[in-house]
Amino acid sequence: MVLRSLPLALILALTACPAPRPPPVKPLPPSGGDGKITWAHASTAAEVPSTPPTPGTFRVHLIDVGTGLAVLIQGADFAMLYDAGTNDKDERPSRVTAYLAAALGPSGDELCGEAAPGTRRTIENVVLSHPHFDHASALDLVLHCYEVHQFWDSGRVNETVFYRELLAAIGKATQLTYHTAVDVPASHEVAVKGMTIHIPVWETFHEGDEVQLGEGAKFTILHAEGKPLKDPNQNSVVLAVQLGTTRMLLVGDAESGERRDPSYGVGDVEEFLIDHHKQDIRADILQVGHHGSKTSSRRDFLAAVHAQLALVSSGPKRYGKTTLPDHEVLEELAAQGATILRTDEHDGACPTTGRIGGDDGPGGCDSWVITIRP
Ligand SMILES: [Zn+2]
Repeated sequence: MVLRSLPLALILALTACPAPRPPPVKPLPPSGGDGKITWAHASTAAEVPSTPPTPGTFRVHLIDVGTGLAVLIQGADFAMLYDAGTNDKDERPSRVTAYLAAALGPSGDELCGEAAPGTRRTIENVVLSHPHFDHASALDLVLHCYEVHQFWDSGRVNETVFYRELLAAIGKATQLTYHTAVDVPASHEVAVKGMTIHIPVWETFHEGDEVQLGEGAKFTILHAEGKPLKDPNQNSVVLAVQLGTTRMLLVGDAESGERRDPSYGVGDVEEFLIDHHKQDIRADILQVGHHGSKTSSRRDFLAAVHAQLALVSSGPKRYGKTTLPDHEVLEELAAQGATILRTDEHDGACPTTGRIGGDDGPGGCDSWVITIRP
């Protein structure tokens, strides 16, 4: 009755009004930093530095895989990969190997991007935070293209074909030690999706273990769940990475619990980390948990980490009903003073020519190269 007395244009505006979009948090900085930690946007392979960093300098690459996560860490004498996967339809693991070829140099055969017959380069350490497709789908191709010496996995079995194929590739890789947070079975065998896989060299790791990466670089394991939990996210392997005097926290999809505003209290893995490693989680750079979802990044957790640089990897594929990141998490990060680097800014609008990986799927042109100087 009230509507009838209003002009038609106003009625239409009232009834058809879309949900208000959240305000932009901060314009995306194409490059910046304070001299010690600097960052630059990379949309093509030519924008990815192709020589190793000089001794004492380190590089962190947030690779735009679309809806997933892949972080490459590089020193003068090592390379390390934390996750490599994407959830996008017709997912393109070759985008990861194309990026690795740009950063580390071509390696392996024609499946590996730029073919380098007879050349197999080394990535000493590969870590899978937890066995979900958006973190793991490219890793069997990485194992095909690169020599991997140490593979770190929660050990939480996911009854899926992709996880079976990954473990099969691990079992076949020569010179590889497989590390899990769960105990090693006496048989060295694991059954996944109708196949039994034998992994010859298999060791257990524990919370608190330190792993030297190279000169002036190491990681410490802050969360290593020794038993399989219902949601693989809860098994996320959390690492504090030391790169010279700079600290980085890698949390995978570690959570606080249900989707809540960041002002809610911490729970689950974030609560564990505050309770057991309050000093160790303090970091200059944070890989924001679970693609910026409200399941993670509670205010108290972000305050304890107190990062100046927040890395958010996400894409257009929905998680349940939600496209990540959640704006509440971005706003909380900004309110706490962090600069946010995102991989989803140009999803659906990346130029197809020159895009890393050469495909036309979502993402692919919002990678970030972070340089850490002494
Ligand atoms: Zn994920």
